[in-house]
Amino acid sequence: MYPAGCGSHEDAMKDPSDTRDIGPRIGSPFWIYLTVVTVAGLGALLVALLRGLPAAGLRGLAGHELFWVLAALSVLGELKPIVTPGKSRPDAGVASVTFCFAALLYWGLAVAAGLRALTTVFVALSGRRAPHRWAFNVAQLTLSLAAAAAVLAAGRIHPLPLRPWVPTGRELGPLGLAALAYFTVNFLLVGLAVTLHERTPLRVTLRRALPYQAFVSLALLSAAPLVVVVMNRSVLLVLLFLLPLIAVYANAAISMQREHQALHDPLTGLPNRALLLDRAGEALAGTARTGSKTGFLLLDLDRFKEVNDTLGHPLGDGLLQAVAYRLARSVRPGDVVARLGGDEFAVLLPAVRAAATAREVAARLRAALAEPIRLEGMSFEINASIGIALYPDDAASVEQLLQRADVAMYLAKQRRTGLERYAGPAGRAFPARLSLLGDLRRGIDHGEFELYYQPTVFLAGGRTAGMEALLRWQHPRRGLLGPAEFIPLAEQSFIMHELTAHVIQTALRQAALWRRRGLPVQLSVNVSVADLLDAGLAGPVEAELAALSLPPEVLLIEVSDRALTSEMIDITAGVSALRGLGVRLSLDDFGTGYASLGRLRRLPVAEVKIDPSFVSGLASSPDSQVIVRSLVDLVHGLGIRSVAEGVETADAAAILLAMGCDAAQGHAFSRPLNAAAATGWLADDLATPPAPAGHRRPAAPAPVTSAAAPEAPAR
Ligand code: C2E
Ligand code: MG
Ligand code: MG
Repeated sequence: MYPAGCGSHEDAMKDPSDTRDIGPRIGSPFWIYLTVVTVAGLGALLVALLRGLPAAGLRGLAGHELFWVLAALSVLGELKPIVTPGKSRPDAGVASVTFCFAALLYWGLAVAAGLRALTTVFVALSGRRAPHRWAFNVAQLTLSLAAAAAVLAAGRIHPLPLRPWVPTGRELGPLGLAALAYFTVNFLLVGLAVTLHERTPLRVTLRRALPYQAFVSLALLSAAPLVVVVMNRSVLLVLLFLLPLIAVYANAAISMQREHQALHDPLTGLPNRALLLDRAGEALAGTARTGSKTGFLLLDLDRFKEVNDTLGHPLGDGLLQAVAYRLARSVRPGDVVARLGGDEFAVLLPAVRAAATAREVAARLRAALAEPIRLEGMSFEINASIGIALYPDDAASVEQLLQRADVAMYLAKQRRTGLERYAGPAGRAFPARLSLLGDLRRGIDHGEFELYYQPTVFLAGGRTAGMEALLRWQHPRRGLLGPAEFIPLAEQSFIMHELTAHVIQTALRQAALWRRRGLPVQLSVNVSVADLLDAGLAGPVEAELAALSLPPEVLLIEVSDRALTSEMIDITAGVSALRGLGVRLSLDDFGTGYASLGRLRRLPVAEVKIDPSFVSGLASSPDSQVIVRSLVDLVHGLGIRSVAEGVETADAAAILLAMGCDAAQGHAFSRPLNAAAATGWLADDLATPPAPAGHRRPAAPAPVTSAAAPEAPAR
């Protein structure tokens, strides 16, 4: 951003997003520079006014309607910069340049500098700008006008209030040189301020701004002699300049509006992806020249989708706006905050010295969001996960920067650290996983997911107690994937809800099919803890049960003890909604988490599945026996069914039966089976008379490839 229009009152300290108006630090190079320019410029103004405005001239001028018309036009022009697409407001040209330069040509330096100062102060005060700002602007513009006046004087042109000068057409040379002097001094004065403020090399600042600034200045200054000729004729004719000016403004405004729409997010007003990429490209080019680094932060709100789904989109929109506002206020001028879509934001730090700076900014952003947001009488705590990548350290291009920040962000979510820097080669596996995440939706739409069913068997009698639906993904390129390959990934994204809904629908349809065939069985479906954080799961469950005319007892929802690692995870909303439908829970992987007795009592738990880690060593480890026995007793005491998972041997099954464990699941009975094989299992079960107590149904025959799924499909 270059804040100096030629003659523009805009200055290096101005930033549209900066409302704090804090002056530069006293003693800093920037401060010294501003002070020197301000003192010199104001001194020049004083001298010009004292020398060039003899009392008669001043009085004459004050009664001159021409002066007031010019002053009014100048103020109007200053109030409304001509902002054009691709240029930020401080770059804009201001029509006051034309009128003040016209005053210089017609009446000389004293009037022009006085008019310029009046205009600047008037506009600055109406905009409540800090005195150090407008003082610098007055000084900078006086010095520019003085340079032009000096050039005119060298060409023996000495306009005075009492002796106005009107160009005849022969003085184009001196006129052009005066305009050039004005532009050069102003451009350098402001360029230097920007350089000191943004700490970028002068060469870079000037080269970046020169073409556009030179063009705008030429256009504005070249109109000045025309204004002077007209001024000399009639004040009314001067007013005619208003019309072309209005046309220019209208045109610029329309183009700006179009550009703004194309480059900004309509909801938050933040730059969109296109603008961000554009700025990132510029930043990388700048970094290459200056040897600094460009920081890129990718920010994703944690669990925003839930708020949006539960409380509605208007509230979600309000939250996004609040988040956008806080983010935009937490960065420095020059940094770019963009919304990439959904709840994903990005922050571009065009020039940072070290990775630590980017980390600091990221921590500041997280802190800014951590303050509860109040909306519609509710209070929301927003957490965000931020991934950081730096150019040139982590990436060689804009695309890579985005992708690596994405990888780091995913890591931050997965590790629950909230903040991660791209981890270099170690993180290389992640892009593959990310692309997998992208494949998930397509997988659902294309029917690539399949459910396998693993029976649970009553230890006493050997009858089937239920079937557990286990998800498999027939990935077109990677082959058959087990849940461990994609569920943890899906859990990081909203897609998990869709996946769970899909599993529930498929499983219940299968249950209905079995019922119609006279094979009624209870079906267990695994859900992620994220599915229970709100009441969202109950919707699809209720709809499917109703559509298939199934009683709620047919379904057991398995939730892993491991996932409920802390009391902080509140699944009350999800569980109560299910309880309302009459659907109960199975507590999976019991013993690996921290499910307290209190919690077991509070939740509608019908079944507890003892984790395989206790079951596998049962025959050889007395410790495991003690643990499993206590778990079985405990669960019984609460009136809950106990199921042992991962039972692989007949010995283990016998021990479990002796301990009073109700049911078991594992390879000793059957591996997970595809739908057809599971149907066969159930039909067999129905046909086989119940075995006497203590007897176990024999293990299923060796799995046929098409029927049984591998436990851990190839990676
Ligand atoms: P889980 O719910 O504890 O499921 C039991 C896992 O143990 C299954 O692995 C099953 O194939 C495996 N298993 C069964 N018997 C034995 C045995 O005797 N020995 C050994 N070593 N393993 C046995 P799978 O299918 O790979 O599933 C892994 C986990 O993925 C499941 O653990 C469950 O937490 C999760 N999962 C599976 N399907 C879904 C789903 O649809 N949604 C969600 N959210 N999670 C799912
Ligand atoms: Mg399970
Ligand atoms: Mg389990």
